[in-house]
Amino acid sequence: MIPPALRVAALLTGPALLVGSALTGCATDAQSPVADGTVDVMASFYPLEHVVQEVGGERVTVRSLTPPGAEPHDVELSPAQVSRLDQADLVVYLSGFQPAVDDAVALTGPDHVVDAAQDTELLTTDEEHEAGSGEPLAEEHDRSAYDPHFWLDPTRMPALVQDVAETLSEIDPDGATQYAANAAALTQRFDDLDTAYSDGLADCRTRTFVTSHAAFGYLADRYDLEQVGISGIDPEAEPSPARLAAVEKIVRSEDISTIFFESLVSPKVAETLASDLGITAAVLDPIEGLADPADDYFSIAARNLDALRTDLECT
Ligand SMILES: [Zn+2]
Repeated sequence: MIPPALRVAALLTGPALLVGSALTGCATDAQSPVADGTVDVMASFYPLEHVVQEVGGERVTVRSLTPPGAEPHDVELSPAQVSRLDQADLVVYLSGFQPAVDDAVALTGPDHVVDAAQDTELLTTDEEHEAGSGEPLAEEHDRSAYDPHFWLDPTRMPALVQDVAETLSEIDPDGATQYAANAAALTQRFDDLDTAYSDGLADCRTRTFVTSHAAFGYLADRYDLEQVGISGIDPEAEPSPARLAAVEKIVRSEDISTIFFESLVSPKVAETLASDLGITAAVLDPIEGLADPADDYFSIAARNLDALRTDLECT
């Protein structure tokens, strides 16, 4: 199951690394060795890695193709990473999100693949904009008609959890009971998170929020909010002057107090605009990667809920 070269590498690097990894529960990056006897899983970016780690527990070694703290849009893969993909027991990715990963999966043809795009019905960016500003952003149509950020709607996660648990059970039947139990516990946490969001965002002064990176279309869709994105789906895209003027108009008419930016990309655009408009800039994290290794999906999601409740003036 585990390629001999990697098994030897795991033995040679000694027990300290393996113990450290087990104690902290930290997922490792693509350079780290695979713990002996575990299922070797490559996840393409953090939320998928988190699901595999929680479902797989100590029976798996999860490595991410997106380095810790890096922004996953447009990730590039080295030839070494592509060959590790080929050796992995399982690859978990989201087709249509990271072109380099799509290419590598097509090139290597891993034995077992979970494509998160098969587990949920993705929203198109057009739908999102009709729900949001009503003004399409031309920049967003250059790559994909689908909005990738499904993980920000907790009700879309259990189908992926189930898919991961079933696929791990095919690869490692001895772990099936463990995977099923872990999947049930994780699904419960997503259900509880959904309840917290539904309750916390039920009664608010306004339902419109402004964010630099339009990553929150699924969250807005689920909780009946309106996202106004400044830069669009791709966090690196520069907003046009017309777009900035449109955002300013919405900020004024909705009496909006905050412009949100994310933690993995420079807040310059959001901070400049907030300063120009005399309002606050604050973090709303799209949970694409961990800026702080002490965080996880659920701790960030809880902070996002607090930030939204403050901004939207929810009771
Ligand atoms: Zn994004």
